Amino acid sequence: MNGEGKITRVHRDRLAVVYLRQSSMVQVREHTESTTRQYGLAEEAVRLGWARQDVVVIDTDLGVSGRWGVARAGFTELVGRVCSGEVGAIFGIEISRLARSNAEVARLMEFAAITETLLIDADGVYDPADVNDRMLLGMKSTIGEVELHVMAQRLHAAKNAAAQRGELRTPLPVGLVYDEAGDVVIDPDAEVQAAIRDVFAAFEQTGSAYGVVAAFATRRFPLRAYGGVWAGQLRWGKLTHARVLGVLKNPGYAGAYVHGRYTSRRRVDPDGTVHTGLVERPRAEWPVLIKDHHPGYITWEQFLLNEAKLAANRTNAGARPPREGSALCQGIIACGSCGKPMRTNYHTDARPSYECSSRADRLTTPTCRSVAASTVDDAVAEQLLAALNPTEVALALAAADRVTDRHQRVSRAAELAVERARYDAERAERAFHAVEPENRLVARSLEARWEAKLATLAEAEQALAAATDTLPPLPGRAELEQLAADLPGLWHAPTTSNKDRKRLLRTLIADITLLPETDHDKVAIGIRWHTGATDELRVARAVHPGTAKRSPSPAVEMVTRLGPTTPTAELANILNAAGLTTGHGRPFDVKAVQWIRHAYHIPAPVAYAEGEISVAQAAERLGCSTGVIYYWINTGQLDAHRGSGHRLCIPWNGQIQHACNRRIIESGHLNPAARRSKPRTRR
Ligand SMILES: [Zn+2]
Repeated sequence: MNGEGKITRVHRDRLAVVYLRQSSMVQVREHTESTTRQYGLAEEAVRLGWARQDVVVIDTDLGVSGRWGVARAGFTELVGRVCSGEVGAIFGIEISRLARSNAEVARLMEFAAITETLLIDADGVYDPADVNDRMLLGMKSTIGEVELHVMAQRLHAAKNAAAQRGELRTPLPVGLVYDEAGDVVIDPDAEVQAAIRDVFAAFEQTGSAYGVVAAFATRRFPLRAYGGVWAGQLRWGKLTHARVLGVLKNPGYAGAYVHGRYTSRRRVDPDGTVHTGLVERPRAEWPVLIKDHHPGYITWEQFLLNEAKLAANRTNAGARPPREGSALCQGIIACGSCGKPMRTNYHTDARPSYECSSRADRLTTPTCRSVAASTVDDAVAEQLLAALNPTEVALALAAADRVTDRHQRVSRAAELAVERARYDAERAERAFHAVEPENRLVARSLEARWEAKLATLAEAEQALAAATDTLPPLPGRAELEQLAADLPGLWHAPTTSNKDRKRLLRTLIADITLLPETDHDKVAIGIRWHTGATDELRVARAVHPGTAKRSPSPAVEMVTRLGPTTPTAELANILNAAGLTTGHGRPFDVKAVQWIRHAYHIPAPVAYAEGEISVAQAAERLGCSTGVIYYWINTGQLDAHRGSGHRLCIPWNGQIQHACNRRIIESGHLNPAARRSKPRTRR
């Protein structure tokens, strides 16, 4: 070897470190020869005079990319060992490529020069302390880097050129495959096809990615594995929200060829570690977009619609998609006084309201109002139904045809699963019959497999039956025409969900504005249709149910007049005798009259006769608790009777007060002083 003479006893007394590195897992898997060669370096170290136990192999970086800044524990360990002076020589396949960056190699060489560490590769032995060796290493390192750069440039240019022509082969999403000629075609597997089509159908139906996840709750979804043990194989699993988004946002399903949807971006941590991450580019910045490149599941227009719908669902970006609540104009109503959107408030479940959102900021203008949702909704719905004249029926029928189509597809998926299971079972049966009878062990395991396949088939058949059963029968076309003609009926049908009503509303109405209105009992509503036309309505505010249920004024008048002098029970009788009823149409009782007294601040007559006081008053005069007074009344020590309103009335005079006071003074329980003065009987 070149320069073997540079190795001295000083070096051989220390460690020989073999540093192994292979950029990626693929290289490790596929270039085993290189790895073997690297391990061969240990033998080389022994040949050059190091004791076998002094040869250390650092291979923790095998399969860790040498590209910028990826933390590599092995290299860090190598530098650490060199700095501590325990290393006599570093062995590597090519010293100049120990690290991918020149800076790292230069640093390592600097430390090696200080600690008199040799660098050894297949070409020879280098002493970093020697200026010539250092220059040689530096040049090799620079040339290596340039070489890499040129290679990467060429590869990139070729790749980009192929991509511009739409010929760069990229991994395809599940549902699309390459045929023998290398063209992209729709996966011939009908079950896979059905699953992909149903994702798009479910998104159209539910309008949200989570809706699609729910629709697939009991179904499985195919996944094509890339890399790893399962590379290229189809696997079935749960459909997750992220995967729904992946399918909806992948332009490949719309027949488009796209290159550069994602770009890598580097980020440097404070400690100098560089992270590389993928960032999605906006559609306008895709470097290559070739429409109608291959057959797709949806059209490009449909793809754009889906994209818009997904964007409209992103509430954190200010979108306000239709929700499940009953307030019809949720999300599209604005305050005409300050211009802010109105919030839908469901504080009281039965009576939602629209509130100007300025209210939270305390920035309301004087005409900012909140309004009962029903006031606006009823007027708007009436306007909407009037606008939907029978010429729209044709549109509704077209929608109905699409529903029928979807309906067939749902059970089609189950049918395909049965077909597949049947095929598998037949194949297992064939394999079982084909085996020679004397080959008993094989026959047994094949029989078990056949049985398992039969069980799967039975399961799939059950699932198909269930899918067919749970689907409600669809009405015929004539029936649908009849239904479409009766749109108001459909609108109010309990089976029509609020979300559907809102969707229908939003297909025709762009937004609603609560216009400034000085009359507090009236509401002015502005409707802007998608066609650009506008309507203005003025309606009376809905009456609060509490107000509507209030007792009629003759009864209130009578209570106001007689209340202060007539006991409550008697008053109820008088009201009933006069033929009056409560707001609910029920006869008056004590509670109802008490409620009117409370609402209109009408006092009850004084219950106590001359010379009588209440329990509370007695307790106050004696300076004891009311409990004591109740006890005395219950045990007959104090006279009392029930007055009006079932109150206890206590006849009171100086004599009674005196007697009570004595009772307290003598009581050991009520008066601790009395207890202490009593003679003690026992010692
Ligand atoms: Zn406002």
